[in-house]
Amino acid sequence: MNIDFHCHTTVSDGSLSPAELLDLALERGIDMLSITDHDTLGAYQKLTKTNSGLRIIPGIELSSQWNRRGIHIVGLNVGLDSPSILQAVEQQSNARRERAEIIAEKLERLGFTDCFAGALSFASGPDQIGRPHFARHLVNIGAVSNIQQAFKRYLGAGKVGDIKDQWADAETVISWIRDAGGVAVLAHPTKYKLTRSKLVELLRDFKDAGGEAMEVISGAQEPSVTRDMARLCTDIGFDASCGSDFHSPNQPWAALGKVAPLPDSCTPIWQRWH
Ligand code: AMP
Ligand code: MN
Ligand code: MN
Ligand code: MN
Repeated sequence: MNIDFHCHTTVSDGSLSPAELLDLALERGIDMLSITDHDTLGAYQKLTKTNSGLRIIPGIELSSQWNRRGIHIVGLNVGLDSPSILQAVEQQSNARRERAEIIAEKLERLGFTDCFAGALSFASGPDQIGRPHFARHLVNIGAVSNIQQAFKRYLGAGKVGDIKDQWADAETVISWIRDAGGVAVLAHPTKYKLTRSKLVELLRDFKDAGGEAMEVISGAQEPSVTRDMARLCTDIGFDASCGSDFHSPNQPWAALGKVAPLPDSCTPIWQRWH
């Protein structure tokens, strides 16, 4: 089974349209796919053609915070018309737009011009602006030479543009997902730069709040990391998810449909829908 339960389109910060992403997924032989754009389900409105041979599990990647740290929670198999998820998307959209205004203001205080309009020019709408769009603007105006540098200097963890107070806390996000009939999955647990004990604390809190799974595999990762995440996952009693976190075809470390197999010890989350 080729499963990819984490990827992005132009509706959030990816470079392929939903239709292009679907074509690539079919080309890569994906059996089950979830498009998990940041805080929006917009891609699902743009998927009109019925597709054979590929099962789509409706999903979303919701921005959240846990103990004042930014974390991401993937909701899988959410009901696209459920009032709970529609309300979640509306609240997150407002948060994202307000956050973008704050980020723009902070960057402009450093002397960079036209930041809101510039970021917006790369986004699918004012409710969808994210830090990658600001990064592109900073490259565009020559403030930095590439996206990485934009994150390193201005947008990455702890920098002036790293604003996360707007996001709902993890308990709230998990209940939105559950109320929409979905499963809450902790996204890319290794990306938060947590100590071991903090990570275990996060997993416990996540479970206590109703979370049921974690990404054991996120993009290309060392086999030792996979073994480690699989152990944490089975110890806490979570189902295991996996995904590329695909954003663009020119990022080989996050290639759509090229996700390594889960270790046998894991309970794959897709057994619920297979
Ligand atoms: P946001 O949703 O606005 O908080 O932006 C987060 C997104 O920025 C992530 O989903 C990644 O796509 C991207 N991102 C985060 N860190 C980096 C980085 N260091 N370099 C490039 N892109 C990044
Ligand atoms: Mn992203
Ligand atoms: Mn993420
Ligand atoms: Mn993602």
